[in-house]
Amino acid sequence: MQQSKEEFSFNADVARLMDIIINSLYTKKEVFIREIISNASDALDKVRFISLQNPEFLGNNPDLYIMIDFDFDAKTISFTDTGVGMTKAELIKNLGTVAKSGTTAFLEAMGKGDTLNLIGQFGVGFYSAFLVANKVVVTSKSNDDEQHVWTSTADAKFFVTKDPRGDTLGRGTRVTLHLKDDAVEYVEQDKIKNLVKKYSEFIQYPIKLFVSKEIRKQVDEEEEETTPKPDEDVEEIEDDAEIKDEGEDDDKPTSEKKTKTVTEQVWEWETINEIKAIWLRNKDEIDDEEYNNFYKTISRDHENPLAYSHFSAEGEIEFKAILFIPSSAPYDLFENYYGRSSALKLYVRRVLITEEFEELMPRYLNFIKGVVDSDDLPLNVSREQLQQLKMIKVMSKKLVRKALEMIKNLSEEDDEEEDDDEDYDEEDEETTNEDEDDEESSEKKDDEEDEDKYSKFWKSFGKNIKLGVIEDASNRSKLAKLLR
Ligand code: ADP
Repeated sequence: MQQSKEEFSFNADVARLMDIIINSLYTKKEVFIREIISNASDALDKVRFISLQNPEFLGNNPDLYIMIDFDFDAKTISFTDTGVGMTKAELIKNLGTVAKSGTTAFLEAMGKGDTLNLIGQFGVGFYSAFLVANKVVVTSKSNDDEQHVWTSTADAKFFVTKDPRGDTLGRGTRVTLHLKDDAVEYVEQDKIKNLVKKYSEFIQYPIKLFVSKEIRKQVDEEEEETTPKPDEDVEEIEDDAEIKDEGEDDDKPTSEKKTKTVTEQVWEWETINEIKAIWLRNKDEIDDEEYNNFYKTISRDHENPLAYSHFSAEGEIEFKAILFIPSSAPYDLFENYYGRSSALKLYVRRVLITEEFEELMPRYLNFIKGVVDSDDLPLNVSREQLQQLKMIKVMSKKLVRKALEMIKNLSEEDDEEEDDDEDYDEEDEETTNEDEDDEESSEKKDDEEDEDKYSKFWKSFGKNIKLGVIEDASNRSKLAKLLR
């Protein structure tokens, strides 16, 4: 009785959304990978953050990662994370109602038609699973509850039940997609591998794929002394060399013992992403496309940014940052101007501390997206304590200066095309970090339309600059120059 299935109805918005998704002819169905992995990554961020204050939270599952595996026969693909998981109540709430602005915006824009593009533009979050699946099973274990299973076949209702198997996850969430007939291609490991690489380049946790591999192995060849064919001969020599490299000298065949090479299929977990944070990498090794992809990952925007600036600050407080100007304003930019906080993600030593930290950027620059990472801030303090720190003020000042520089460069680029080229690390003077801008201008050619960037900027964010003139006395003259 206590394990019986409870039935729930999706809230009306979700039901409508699911209806659209499941019937959509949207061709880039693969975006479901990005959405599911990014949810997993968010859940892992939460664990990492909570465990800073409370290491016990990790319990017996200290490792933070995402795993992907398949069942060829059942035609399922599963994504498992060791994130925070969801309680029963959270499963019902989070997966049964529209959680965030992305979906709301999607539904609003829906009224205006063109569903196909909208799915790509807004991302439909978790529900994108139904682009490829006709049944989705979410098993989740939160530290605050027993393990529960959420199931839906997208027909306006979903079921939640206590997992009869008990706690199999330890902590985290497993999302299993039962693929539609026209989507069974997603159980191909190479396909998934490439897609995960494409969409999850900047996920900071290992993503492990359960892959089959052919390995060559040496086995004793006891009896028959047939002369090997020439290429087999070569293999033996190579394999010998490999064995030596790995230092397994004890297995080294003795001269009288003959071995032969056989191929064997094995299954193993392979980590398929590079985990090093992009902002720590050398700028010279990062191309525009990587910056654009990174931007899309953190902003969930579908368009390339208008400009970016990657720099490190030194001095009183050291930090690295990448700032982006989006191509267009979010639909609700001014809906809650005074309540909205900065869209910069603040990391301390690669740990995401907060995505909404009003102290980093003044309100009028809230449209700037990006990441800031410092080794100098304390990890073990609350957000409130962090807000009090003088260092945050210093950071904010520098970030504002860089943001304004980036905007100024954008306006100058249009006037005269790019010119200078100098280092980006300098601290105090007003010179700019144009080396990124050289790259940006090349991007300009690829852009959809050739409308000049500053007009585009002004159309989207002109109002912000005007507000800046009013609100930011210390940068008033700089801002005034940006007015059109
Ligand atoms: P969004 O991610 O934009 O909030 P989604 O529709 O993708 O919206 O997800 C809805 C909510 O479900 C998330 O906000 C989160 O609370 C919860 N959720 C989804 N996937 C996971 C997961 N793997 N682990 C924990 N919670 C999750």
